Amino acid sequence: MLTEHQLARYERQILFRPLGAPGQARLLDSRVVVCGCGAIGAATAEMLARAGVGYIRLVDFDCLELSNLQRQTLYEEGDLQTRPKCEIAAERLSRINSEIVIEPVIAKIGADNAAQLVEGVDVIVDGVDNFAAKFAMNQAAITLGIPMVYAALSGSYGLTMAVRPGETACLCCLYCAEPDKASSETAATAGVIGPSVNTVASLQMSQVLQLLTGQPECLPQGLLQVEVWDYELRTIRVPRRADCAVCGA
Ligand SMILES: [Zn+2]
Repeated sequence: MLTEHQLARYERQILFRPLGAPGQARLLDSRVVVCGCGAIGAATAEMLARAGVGYIRLVDFDCLELSNLQRQTLYEEGDLQTRPKCEIAAERLSRINSEIVIEPVIAKIGADNAAQLVEGVDVIVDGVDNFAAKFAMNQAAITLGIPMVYAALSGSYGLTMAVRPGETACLCCLYCAEPDKASSETAATAGVIGPSVNTVASLQMSQVLQLLTGQPECLPQGLLQVEVWDYELRTIRVPRRADCAVCGA
């Protein structure tokens, strides 16, 4: 049951029929981990906090750099050379929504700790900028049976896909046969503009909302590719691979 206060606070979201009051109640009961608090991670984390997701874990080890300010929306000039980004982000999100639990965890995600960092949540949000961490999260997601929403950015181009263990392809189904495809470009080499960050974060957030409120039939059927300079959006089917080293039988 939602309180009067919650009904008022989340009124516009509750009025959106596919969510409604039952969807809002589920969001308030949900637990999400955001791995990486850079561009996409910060943008999605802010939407999660505003939407009233009850518990948000923020994992990152980096400090803010001057070049981050152009696109990483939770941070300000005064945050430079202070604390790790996950702590700054946690404080800012607490000011946006003091009625949810936000836990910053200072850690660099890798194969050795990914399972521990993502355990106990309903959805894993991919906000990391390197494929070693993405693959570690993918392995943990499959092992623990937790859905993950992958996202990647380069220039004006972005990708996102929901990985549902046992149901859909995983990141290894997508990339392990062609590893060059995964690591070809990153924000550090190809640059990135604000519109691609916020578009991909929004597409990621829609998938998180659908997963948390039990509406997997609404999810895109595969990998979403978006180009914000040429205004293109398409969905590419990604078959599960029976011989996948991570999710195959
Ligand atoms: Zn797979």
